[in-house]
Amino acid sequence: MKRKNLRNIGIIAHVDAGKTTLTERVLYYTGAIHKAGDVHNGNTHTDFSPEERKRGITIYSAATTVFWNEHQLNIIDTPGHIDFNIEVNRSLRVLDGAVVVFDAVSGVEPQTETNWRLANQYAVPRICFVNKMDRIGSDYYRVINMIENRLGIKTAMIQIPIGSEDNFVGFIDLLLMKAITWQGRDLESVYRVDDLDQEQIVMAETYRQKLIEQVVEYDDDALETYLNGHVLDDESLKRCIRAGTLQGELTPVLCGTAFKNIGIQPLMDAVVDYLPSPVEMPAVIGIENNEGEKQRLADVDAPFSALAFKVVNDRHGSLYFARIYSGQVSSGSQVLNVITGKKERIGRIYEIQADKKEAKDCAVAGDIVAFAGLKHTGTGDTLCDINNPIVLERINVPEPVIDIAVEAKAKVDQANLEKGLRSLVAEDPSLHLKTDSETGQTLLSGMGELQLQVNLSRLQDDYGIDVNVGSPKVSYRETITQATELRYLNKKQTGGPGQYAEVELRFEPLERGEGYIFESQIVSGHIPKEYVPSVDKGIQKAAQSGTSGYPLVDLKVTLLDGTYHENDSSNIAFEWAAMMAFKEAMQIVKPVLLEPVMSIEVITPSDYLGDCIGDINRRRGLITNQTLKGFDSVIKANVPLAEMFGYIGDLRALTSGRATFTMQFDHYAIVPKQIAQFVN
Ligand code: GDP
Repeated sequence: MKRKNLRNIGIIAHVDAGKTTLTERVLYYTGAIHKAGDVHNGNTHTDFSPEERKRGITIYSAATTVFWNEHQLNIIDTPGHIDFNIEVNRSLRVLDGAVVVFDAVSGVEPQTETNWRLANQYAVPRICFVNKMDRIGSDYYRVINMIENRLGIKTAMIQIPIGSEDNFVGFIDLLLMKAITWQGRDLESVYRVDDLDQEQIVMAETYRQKLIEQVVEYDDDALETYLNGHVLDDESLKRCIRAGTLQGELTPVLCGTAFKNIGIQPLMDAVVDYLPSPVEMPAVIGIENNEGEKQRLADVDAPFSALAFKVVNDRHGSLYFARIYSGQVSSGSQVLNVITGKKERIGRIYEIQADKKEAKDCAVAGDIVAFAGLKHTGTGDTLCDINNPIVLERINVPEPVIDIAVEAKAKVDQANLEKGLRSLVAEDPSLHLKTDSETGQTLLSGMGELQLQVNLSRLQDDYGIDVNVGSPKVSYRETITQATELRYLNKKQTGGPGQYAEVELRFEPLERGEGYIFESQIVSGHIPKEYVPSVDKGIQKAAQSGTSGYPLVDLKVTLLDGTYHENDSSNIAFEWAAMMAFKEAMQIVKPVLLEPVMSIEVITPSDYLGDCIGDINRRRGLITNQTLKGFDSVIKANVPLAEMFGYIGDLRALTSGRATFTMQFDHYAIVPKQIAQFVN
């Protein structure tokens, strides 16, 4: 397959817009599967796990390869729920283009806006598909208006619907100037291409003229033809739309109904026509040998580099989904994981085709494949040629803000539970595991309640473990507010083997989000080099549970000086000295509790604006912005997560179910004193 005939695309949608149904239809019409599954029946193909089937939402991004008109399409499924934004984020990293699905009744929804902005960050060219044209109340033109106004983009309407709601049968193709209509509504129904009738011609000409004026500026030849008063042919028009789309200035809009099987084939044609191939993408940027930025083009002859963007574990082992950015790799070859510094042998290379794995001998720049047989690789790691190391930009992983306690119902399952939890964490870098320092319970931390629930039910479904779970709790942190310097001497030299270590340390607060920094200023062997890492380790151990049981963060510790003893010093002695020094320092540096603060956006009919604001204020919220969108008011606010449990129910009650909201982590902030005393 020629590289220019490859498309790496994602399907982005708000939950329920029809992404799963659409993906199914694409698999069916490309011949990848023989009977399209329906979400209602719970047997769709891109959704791997039973949990997704049960919930009917797509959580785990799976990559699927299909073939259409001599082109290979790699489809990376992206989830629509806010809790899984990390998944959207990382799939956007490896995509070259996306189809954004809208519900023809509800149009642009809050989650679509969030995902749209994310796609802007990654400069992903997009096509819009207005789905559910068969629904009562669907309105193509209204949705296009919403797309332009809310998302602030220029659209290129290349189809206009024929019939509406129940009578929607197809559309006029404004490039072909033909009527494309479906004879039935089932999977096998075929479409006809007919000349336009008189009435259609009048309308289509007006829209085609508008389309030409919108897109002609993106291709110089076409512009010249147009300005000279000549007629533009379809191919020139296509070139203009393609160029505008690739530059991110223009988004083609199409319509259809996935459920009733109308408009799918033309959508795939549009993917081929308007979305880029890997060779058209700008070079990926990485850091080479700590020497600064280096570009790698999607060139098969360049040194190999790839980004592992997803690890999927099941009972059969692990698959590592990777995007090859440059060069090539064959099965059996050795590569370097630059992040872990370990060499890895690529076992098998698979192309995933719906529910089949197709083994390949090699993968080249632009490909998205799954590797089997790796041992030391996690999500976001760069794999590359051993002699040409490069680090591709890591995927940003947000802070976990919610903890949930989990234990196996039966004691015998304890070991299995640990294994299962470790697999979940390896798959999703936004999940973390820790042990509660006071209760000894195992805590799973993540970015939202739903994310944790879904993962915990996977323990049951994928690993067969029954678990007890606690209620979700806020993941607090601690930090210090003052600096101090102190010396600590750990000396036990009476009877038995001695212990000796002395450290002089400076503790100082860092800005929010800076984490932990350790620095050594030891000169001329006051403490032998091999003991220095133990000081660091001792501090990190002590900081894990701070003074209040929560991790202490945003802390810089500098090892200023110290002394040692020829016989009695050891790593353990220095680790202990550091831990004790930390404890003493905490008496002086005035530790405070930090809590996650979320940024929320509430969209409510304006009648309920006052009630919504009052409620946010009662939750210690701070309104940051308030605007009007049609008849709705949009409130943006920062609210501590601790006050947000159960918000969805309260908001519904307050607004008769008419308001919606989205929430994401924003920052950590100091908990006010009068509240902190009640946190345990
Ligand atoms: P996802 O959450 O975006 O993956 O959406 P799904 O594919 O699960 O679809 C959500 C619901 O909308 C399901 O009940 C589908 O049957 C239904 N649906 C999907 N496409 C259409 C469509 O074109 N028309 C109608 N009327 N319903 C649709």
